[in-house]
Amino acid sequence: MFGFLYTRVYSLSLTMCVRSCFRSPRLQWVWRTAFLKHTQRRHQGSHRWTHLGGSTYRAVIFDMGGVLIPSPGRVAAEWEVQNRIPSGTILKALMEGGENGPWMRFMRAEITAEGFLREFGRLCSEMLKTTSVPVDSFFSLLTSERVAKQFPVMTEAITQIRAKGLQTAVLSNNFYLPNQKSFLPLDRKQFDVIVESCMEGICKPDPRIYKLCLERLGLQPSESIFLDDLGPNLKEAARLGIHTIKVNDPETAVKELEALLGFTLRVGVPNTRPVKKTMEIPKDSLQKYLKDLLGIQTTGPLELLQFDHGQSNPTYYIRLANRDLVLRKKPPGTLLPSAHAIEREFRIMKALANAGVPVPNVLDLCEDSSVIGTPFYVMEYCPGLIYKDPSLPGLEPSHRRAIYTAMNTVLCKIHSVDLQAVGLEDYGKQGDYIPRQVRTWVKQYRASETSTIPAMERLIEWLPLHLPRQQRTTVVHGDFRLDNLVFHPEEPEVLAVLDWELSTLGDPLADVAYSCLAHYLPSSFPVLRGINDCDLTQLGIPAAEEYFRMYCLQMGLPPTENWNFYMAFSFFRVAAILQGVYKRSLTGQASSTYAEQTGKLTEFVSNLAWDFAVKEGFRVFKEMPFTNPLTRSYHTWARPQSQWCPTGSRSYSSVPEASPAHTSRGGLVISPESLSPPVRELYHRLKHFMEQRVYPAEPELQSHQASAARWSPSPLIEDLKVCNCSAPDTGNMELLVRYGTEAQKARWLIPLLEGKARSCFAMTEPQVASSDATNIEASIREEDSFYVINGHKWWITGILDPRCQLCVFMGKTDPHALRHRQQSVLLVPMDTPGIKIIRPLTVYGLEDAPGGHGEVRFEHVRVPKENMVLGPGRGFEIAQGRLGPGRIHHCMRLIGFSERALALMKARVKSRVAFGKPLVEQGTVLADIAQSRVEIEQARLLVLRAAHLMDLAGNKAAALDIAMIKMVAPSMASRVIDRAIQAFGAAGLSSDYPLAQFFTWARALRFADGPDEVHRATVAKLELKHRI
Ligand SMILES: Cc1cc2nc3c(=O)[nH]c(=O)nc-3n(C[C@H](O)[C@H](O)[C@H](O)COP(=O)(O)OP(=O)(O)OC[C@H]3O[C@@H](n4cnc5c(N)ncnc54)[C@H](O)[C@@H]3O)c2cc1C
Repeated sequence: MFGFLYTRVYSLSLTMCVRSCFRSPRLQWVWRTAFLKHTQRRHQGSHRWTHLGGSTYRAVIFDMGGVLIPSPGRVAAEWEVQNRIPSGTILKALMEGGENGPWMRFMRAEITAEGFLREFGRLCSEMLKTTSVPVDSFFSLLTSERVAKQFPVMTEAITQIRAKGLQTAVLSNNFYLPNQKSFLPLDRKQFDVIVESCMEGICKPDPRIYKLCLERLGLQPSESIFLDDLGPNLKEAARLGIHTIKVNDPETAVKELEALLGFTLRVGVPNTRPVKKTMEIPKDSLQKYLKDLLGIQTTGPLELLQFDHGQSNPTYYIRLANRDLVLRKKPPGTLLPSAHAIEREFRIMKALANAGVPVPNVLDLCEDSSVIGTPFYVMEYCPGLIYKDPSLPGLEPSHRRAIYTAMNTVLCKIHSVDLQAVGLEDYGKQGDYIPRQVRTWVKQYRASETSTIPAMERLIEWLPLHLPRQQRTTVVHGDFRLDNLVFHPEEPEVLAVLDWELSTLGDPLADVAYSCLAHYLPSSFPVLRGINDCDLTQLGIPAAEEYFRMYCLQMGLPPTENWNFYMAFSFFRVAAILQGVYKRSLTGQASSTYAEQTGKLTEFVSNLAWDFAVKEGFRVFKEMPFTNPLTRSYHTWARPQSQWCPTGSRSYSSVPEASPAHTSRGGLVISPESLSPPVRELYHRLKHFMEQRVYPAEPELQSHQASAARWSPSPLIEDLKVCNCSAPDTGNMELLVRYGTEAQKARWLIPLLEGKARSCFAMTEPQVASSDATNIEASIREEDSFYVINGHKWWITGILDPRCQLCVFMGKTDPHALRHRQQSVLLVPMDTPGIKIIRPLTVYGLEDAPGGHGEVRFEHVRVPKENMVLGPGRGFEIAQGRLGPGRIHHCMRLIGFSERALALMKARVKSRVAFGKPLVEQGTVLADIAQSRVEIEQARLLVLRAAHLMDLAGNKAAALDIAMIKMVAPSMASRVIDRAIQAFGAAGLSSDYPLAQFFTWARALRFADGPDEVHRATVAKLELKHRI
């Protein structure tokens, strides 16, 4: 059970195992129909069960914590949230000292519970540098009846295993309670053998304890299956020859066990349990009512179970005469005004079914309290899957994305319902939804308030002052989240949306925000499981921002700028609901087992809400100068050269602006929020495209690049190629636009713009220092109406691409002319005879297929004279003009790589645990993140300024700025990416992540388009020339 603390040697892998304990168990369930598909195989007469591999099993051995009952890791996480103890403290303290630490000695009964708590408390206090840590309360929670309860799915499995005649055992690292009894919150009758470390003085993974268990079962190792949540314990069992199952969550483990044993272990209705005593309803009158309703004459006994969920309105499963039904009723007792309106649930589901929204089929509403004590309604039971864990464990990233996309789509469907057509215009008030909601939840909160919560007080003041203008009125679900959706067992399709208790007419964005709550909650959050500590990119789950964008795109709406407000409001509402549940628990009314602990959680959630309020406040503040014409504001903006500057120099000033007129003259835009609406729209579309199409395609592209087919363009890229902004094409296109004749443009520019052709630029030569373009030696000789080229070039990017049709070639037409007038540029069709590609060069081993970087010989290549650009001797000038836009594109890409690297790094350090806490809690990691953010922003501002100046004053005037960014961006990106690689560990160097490739590109860009030193020389030269 608690063997994860066995030795220090194991600590790294163990922390990884234990991390999984913090993740909420997957409570994904499959309905009865699916279970029955499992094939049963019984070995004739004997109690031996054969799995597909042919081995026989006669016993199943269970670990306790993390397998039969919640793991101490999970309990600790919950306790730490409630007690504001830094996450991971308990775990670290439990591991301290390894085999000889207090915890392991306690497991071997070498110290008593009191002795353990003393030592343990001291350890925690030392770690946190505080006087006392209430470890007694952790121990009480760990051993409390509420927490230490056997997972129903395991109880069911054990019953089935024993029914087939197999033996069952518990093999647990366990301890004695202060009353001298061992901690065993299990029904002993379920097991043939129980082996506990505290009784034997030996802990797992000591092989002796496994042997002892097998001896007591009278079996050989190969005849048993062992389930444990910790790798080292399983490893030792496997070494002894026992078959093992790693338990990350009980549901999945039972499925695996089923597959091994070959018979079904779950026959009940998932997520149900026997009806609680306090929640019982009179079966006889219910049966009579149902017989009348369904028109059934004879029925068998009525089977009644209670669903685990339904915090508010108790929900029951009914089986009667082969009908599977669900009943939802009001809770007993005095209720808050307008709460628990099950009549409304009935009405909306009926109406929405007619509008094609997937909802359970409702049968009848019974408002007569005499039948079962309160009003209720009955609906058909909808078979399918409910994903209780929003991280969707066990699914492929693409499937997870599809699930979230389906969730988004069904929400759009709900919000698109024509209210009039389905008779729901009076289902709620039209307009002013958020102000009314704020008032309602403030009232509800006040009615349930038990003590003052500072964040709630701040929110109660802040929310009314920041109300958004409601754009649309639609049906809102009010509790739209993943575990209120029933999915198709195999397809990412929503079969039914459940729990309409809080539905009304209102602002649909409230639903969108609400469905993102899990994104901001930890996985250990007891009431609503979260995913804020998961690596969403790796999982394939869209981030909240992307989810919002997805919604807006599907609905054809502009992007939601104030979504932080909606998040703040949603968390405020959850806090108010939790407070209500808590208050009801105090009076014994709430149906949730978590009700009692929700009091403390209210505070936690209200703090989250306040965080969003602060973010929204910053956004409003940032936008103020741009949106409020009366506000006096300051902008750094470049003045057009003609107006302000002598030719060839440029000037910047921070000028106070009294009117918004300057924006039309082009104020420097420093954030997406301040872009003009059409550009902002483009920005969001591009972001969406990247998230939806590009990032998910990375693995496939990666494998294409590693395959033998890599020198042919990937069809995936062809499909995605909508931006057409690759180097060196953009530079070449610029060149043609600026300097090409109409005929040259028609022949080369149009196919390049259309993305039908690719091109390359050939300047660099192996035999001369090519950072100085005047060194170029390749010759261009006139011969009749042709130019004849001879030369040796290398590092020619894109030349190997089969689509490359044009080579923009730089060579010397007159070696005796002035230094900068010797060079010329020729447009060389790639199918001209005499172009010989010698080899592809590699960059740190990367080939960059299919374009590659080629070494090429040009041998007597004849090109018509009209292919000369601008004229002989103009090459130097053209090369300079070409590089301005090309260089800024490189810098923009580098900022993109850096942002991506930082995003990957942040996700990684949140989910990766080392030395007892997530990496993100290490000071050096925090410093690295901060440093990277600052460096990216510095580089971005410089790049924006260069772009701004290029737009306003032209490339020539921006020469200094372009040189500066080319100096700054590649080094900045190298540092940021390098930090990300470091945070990833060795994985960062592999091709499993894009970081190594980013790093290579960033490094290469300290040469490509001119080495850093050349740009530094330019900056220094201009600085000395123009500044005093
Ligand atoms: C991935 C990649 C793609 C490329 N793509 C192309 C392409 O498509 N077409 C093309 O023509 N070329 C391309 N290049 C080549 C690139 O433009 C050259 O490498 C670059 O111009 C430097 O030339 P060089 O390699 O000959 O270095 P050299 O000129 O030999 O310079 C060597 C070093 O000398 C130092 N140095 C040079 N000048 C100065 C100075 N003024 N002050 C101080 N130190 C100095 C620098 O450290 C420099 O790195 C590519 C390069 C790479 C790595």
